[in-house]
Amino acid sequence: MSTPESAPLSTAPRPRALAGQTAIVTGASSGIGRSVAIGLAAAGANVVVNYVGGADAAAAVAAEIERAGGTAIPVRADVSQEAEVQAMFRAAIAAFGTVHILVNNAGLQRDAPIEEMSLADWERVVGVNLTGQFLCAREAVREFKRRGLQPELSRALGKIICMSSVHEVIPWAGHANYAASKGGVALLMKTLAQELAPRRIRVNSIAPGAIRTPINRPAWETPEALERLLRLIPSKRIGEPEDIAEAAVWLASDASDYVNGATLFVDGGMTLYPGFEDNG
Ligand code: NAD
Repeated sequence: MSTPESAPLSTAPRPRALAGQTAIVTGASSGIGRSVAIGLAAAGANVVVNYVGGADAAAAVAAEIERAGGTAIPVRADVSQEAEVQAMFRAAIAAFGTVHILVNNAGLQRDAPIEEMSLADWERVVGVNLTGQFLCAREAVREFKRRGLQPELSRALGKIICMSSVHEVIPWAGHANYAASKGGVALLMKTLAQELAPRRIRVNSIAPGAIRTPINRPAWETPEALERLLRLIPSKRIGEPEDIAEAAVWLASDASDYVNGATLFVDGGMTLYPGFEDNG
């Protein structure tokens, strides 16, 4: 009899690799989260479209998924608030029975030079970008263990994908809170991956470079800003949210079953020291 460990991995295309599974995508009413939610749904997952503000935008994402033949519900929760995260998981379980995939995507910036950075802005960024990922991951792990393995759906008990950033390795002047939060995500992710691998839970990160979303609009909305930005990107194009969605679908699927504790940089080479492009 084949066990999840011994079953051969097929290299055949998996058009609906996530069929029957349920995903929570935090901060899914815009940008990368929206695209990841749509991508996971297209791969067959039921999707919880989490949002904190902008119920209309979240409802529109869920409606877009439904129009394409998928299944989605919007659920409001501030990921930095323990009780709201727990209520979101209860809502997901009430709607779909369990959760198989968590995409810890919600994030924000509150930028300032260090001497002007308020404690409130420090705490808000760390609270959402790092503590939020901890709170959601903890609830996900509790639910994965409660549910148990469903080998007909996935070789893994559960999958957690942390949205990090190239700023988990690239220092970023004027963004100390953001860079610290993403550096924290790097070791939170690796520690959870190490702790949970024996339970067949996979934890990985995606580290986007510059992706065209509302969070960094000033960096791409004028031709001059875009030209400056492209100097930092060896591939000479800004990333699109779909570039990240493709990576998320792969990391959520059994195609990446042996990938655990990894950060997948999806950055057009931004972490390749572009200053050395012309021989330094
Ligand atoms: P975005 O502003 O479009 O999306 C962020 C989402 O998070 C928004 O929908 C926002 O409402 C939500 N959010 C904020 N606070 C929340 C909270 N407390 N609870 C729940 N949701 C909350 O920007 P984006 O670029 O799509 O960002 C998504 C993730 O990607 C973030 O973690 C960001 O740090 C990361 N990232 C983005 C880029 C980029 O270039 N766009 C690069 C690296 C990393």
